[in-house]
Amino acid sequence: MSCVGRFAPSPTGPLHLGSLLCAVISYLDSKSQQGLWRLRIDDLDTPRVSDAHTHAILSALEAHGFVWDGALVYQSQQTLAYQEAFDQLLNSGMVFPCGLSRRALRERFGGVHPGRLQAEPAQLDQDNNWRFDTALALDCYLDDRILGKTLIKAGDIECFTLKRKEGLFAYHLACVVDDEAMGITQVTRGNDLFSSTPEQCLLQDALGFARPEYAHHLVLIDDRGDKLSKQTFAQALDVSKVIDNLHYVLRVLGYQQFPDTAKAKELLDWAVSEWHIDRIRGRDQVLCER
Ligand code: GLU
Repeated sequence: MSCVGRFAPSPTGPLHLGSLLCAVISYLDSKSQQGLWRLRIDDLDTPRVSDAHTHAILSALEAHGFVWDGALVYQSQQTLAYQEAFDQLLNSGMVFPCGLSRRALRERFGGVHPGRLQAEPAQLDQDNNWRFDTALALDCYLDDRILGKTLIKAGDIECFTLKRKEGLFAYHLACVVDDEAMGITQVTRGNDLFSSTPEQCLLQDALGFARPEYAHHLVLIDDRGDKLSKQTFAQALDVSKVIDNLHYVLRVLGYQQFPDTAKAKELLDWAVSEWHIDRIRGRDQVLCER
């Protein structure tokens, strides 16, 4: 099976060096295996996302030499697929309505919903979130290329929300449905998302989806120790300095002695030929000094 990787930014702000690092790693990792590199815009969180951010992200990626394979996927256009997967889980009895607020959950169960069997039945006529019943899911393994093998005990995982009462589908469901539909075989993403992966593995198994290979890699942090992110106001990429930006990120990955080119695509193609997964092993965080 040929390799298909992806980059899946949320358009809640512009790309920064941390997101460029993620894009570069996923690109190099899939292209070095003669694979495809796909792009998805994770624009589900409608109050926070904007078309302006999406456009800025796409033009920053193009300016940095990225060319994606196949159609660009927007999560906001996949609602039918999410509903189908949701219905499949509902029909197999793994989803239940839950009217409890976060506060009520905390007061009653210490924050972790124990599953429908131990909770009171929700009133179907009230506004409900729809939760995945982890008490009915199967234990499984997650074998990460960087972090190794972890046993996922389904019963230890909170019954997480699949669909919110306002009708919005939650990240875990959207992510696994899209990864499956896009034929993704390799997920490389920051290790801050490792804690989201057990929920996604349970869903993949419950839906009968193949598990992509995961590699949760190092992230860039600022001088306060926070991961570079839109929430911590990381600086937007300066698109007048694409070669500098790529050199910086490639240096973080241990590259030195760059070819003499002003073309971002040529630089990326050169980096593909020098890529090895060991470049992202052994470090969890790197201080961003730029
Ligand atoms: N959209 C997520 C983010 O920007 C990434 C999701 C993923 O890689 O699975 O943090």
